Amino acid sequence: MAPPSMLKRMQTATVLTAGVKVPFRKRLRVFTEDRRVEGIIIVIVLLYFLVICLDFAVPEVYLGTQGSFTDNYQNFIITWTRTFWVVDLVFLSIFIVEICLRLYAWGLTYLKDILNFVDMLIVGISFVMLFVTMDFTMFTCLDFARPECSGEGTGIESTRGILRVFRIVRIFRIVIILNKIKRSRENAEILRKKAKYRRQGSPVERVVEILQRLRRKAEKASDRDNIAFIVDAIVSDQLYTVNVSAADASEMTTEMNAFLLEGGALQKQKTRTRAIGGIAPKGLGKGIANKSPKGRPRVVINAPDDKPAPASYKDDVQPAGSPASMRSNGKDESPGNARVGMRSGKPERYTEETAWVEKMMKSSEVGKVLQGADSWDFSIFDIERASNQHPILVMVLHFVQHFDLESSLPIPYSNLVRLLLRIEAGYKQVPFHNHVHGADVTQGTAYFLMQEVVSRHVSPLDIYCMILGAALHDFEHPGYNNAFLVASRDEKAILYNDVSVLENFHISSSWRMMLEDSLNPFAGFSDEQYVEARQTMVYAILGTDMKFHFDHLTKFKTRVSSGVYQNDDPDRKDVRLLLAMCMHSADVSNPAKRWELTSEWAARVMEEFFRQGEREEELNLPVSPFMDRQKTDIAQCQAGFISILIKPFFDEWTQFLGESNRHIFVNVESNIKTWTEQGEAALGAARVAALKQGGKAAKAAPAAS
Ligand SMILES: [Zn+2]
Repeated sequence: MAPPSMLKRMQTATVLTAGVKVPFRKRLRVFTEDRRVEGIIIVIVLLYFLVICLDFAVPEVYLGTQGSFTDNYQNFIITWTRTFWVVDLVFLSIFIVEICLRLYAWGLTYLKDILNFVDMLIVGISFVMLFVTMDFTMFTCLDFARPECSGEGTGIESTRGILRVFRIVRIFRIVIILNKIKRSRENAEILRKKAKYRRQGSPVERVVEILQRLRRKAEKASDRDNIAFIVDAIVSDQLYTVNVSAADASEMTTEMNAFLLEGGALQKQKTRTRAIGGIAPKGLGKGIANKSPKGRPRVVINAPDDKPAPASYKDDVQPAGSPASMRSNGKDESPGNARVGMRSGKPERYTEETAWVEKMMKSSEVGKVLQGADSWDFSIFDIERASNQHPILVMVLHFVQHFDLESSLPIPYSNLVRLLLRIEAGYKQVPFHNHVHGADVTQGTAYFLMQEVVSRHVSPLDIYCMILGAALHDFEHPGYNNAFLVASRDEKAILYNDVSVLENFHISSSWRMMLEDSLNPFAGFSDEQYVEARQTMVYAILGTDMKFHFDHLTKFKTRVSSGVYQNDDPDRKDVRLLLAMCMHSADVSNPAKRWELTSEWAARVMEEFFRQGEREEELNLPVSPFMDRQKTDIAQCQAGFISILIKPFFDEWTQFLGESNRHIFVNVESNIKTWTEQGEAALGAARVAALKQGGKAAKAAPAAS
């Protein structure tokens, strides 16, 4: 009935098998817990039980058959008592040795189990009683005819009486043994389940089973609590849910809580919060308003795909002189455009379109801006102007060239160009989620792909997928978030069952477009490459849902700490996670840019928020947090959002990227400081006024450079 830490036992057992020298005490623990040893002890105790029963029964039976206290009976009693005394001594000695070994192996912990303690008392007292009550006459009286050896009331009879009464108590040992058998059955059950798990079932079932056993056997209450916490975390399926209070609590206003919770970036804590190592985790979502101010179910607000704001949302202007076929925003109606699948051959490299594009790429204005495209301080607004509103086209083609992808992939260049133009045209003229944002995320993603810790794990196909994926990651974004689409019962929410509605929509609608032969960016790729590309892009784009912000971060941290990215050949799923991190980081990187860029994006995203708020009002829906144009404090919104979501994220991410990228995190801290110290005024009076007055005024405001 050893209670001890099973973990230690398992460790010791492992060490023993490994042939490493371990202390005698630990070896003894393993020995006493050995199922064979336990089995032998059980057999001995059962035998003892049998002997005690015989001692009760046989003299009575003998007496019954003899009918009276005859000499024969007296003689029999002497012999029987003598024999039994010796047998008793042998059994009790074995028990004493067994208990002493367990005591030595487990120390006082052994006695913490009340059954063990009582067991020890019974055996110990029995052993002492054996000698105290012993009447030596039973060994010396060989002649029952002698007066001291005969008749009732002799020493032999009284000794037998006392011992027999006490042996009744010793039957209690049986209770303990039954307990042991029960436990053995449990063990057998676990073994049976283990065998079953090998055939079917998930590892988590076995993990929980093992943890529950450990918990039952844990010596300290704090250990039991900690194991319970682990089990809770596992079974609640919220392993990667983040404790927000770890972030700057001063920024966690009620509105921010509601914003984050409803946006899915945070989840309501369902697990019991338990202390780990004696430190109680602060309650996640404590004091968080889960209801709308009016007490009605709240329109859920997803954290914006990105953050910050609006200015120059110019109409999509095609470059002067671009070929007519490229100006079409509609479907390509050229013959042979029926879907033939993704395996069609590689199209012509040089066409009228590509000639035009190459001419633009080589123009001095674009070329000059592109010189800074590898830098974190690059301004996407510059390329927007230089390319005459084709930032996505220019960015993707630039990076295809930069990474020399055409040397290792059969990229259908003219298809790619046509596709990019269609993607660009698909972005709506909304304040934030427009084609400039698409191009910005493309540049950011490419920047991360260039970093050594990332580049050593990615293939040219990965790079191609990520650049293309970033370019289309917000394709046809309506300027409203997932929560709004769900609350307003938008067709897209119905189509995707409220699950990552926009992200599903972006990837699905753009992929549908890619199925057209003339737009297929994978024409000429092998089936394997196509499947790989699709999986990677879908995974990364779905990962831009803010719902997965902390999920991916926590998973990523776990994988980094386990050293997978130090290996030369990490598992494919770890590479995908890394790629998704690159795209999501780029997607939420606005607050990690220099102030001029950060503030421009902030103004844009706030304008988009306010437009949604107005739309909510029109639809009689509760206005989402931070979306009320009049009441929202832009600086507070930004500072809170950056402190709680962005800062911890970029802290981890830039640590992974290395010291040379720490300046990105410094930007985050500096921007928080600016928002906190200067408030809305940091945007400039004219810009703030425009935002407070409405979309038209904001649109007229000048864009940052
Ligand atoms: Zn985005």
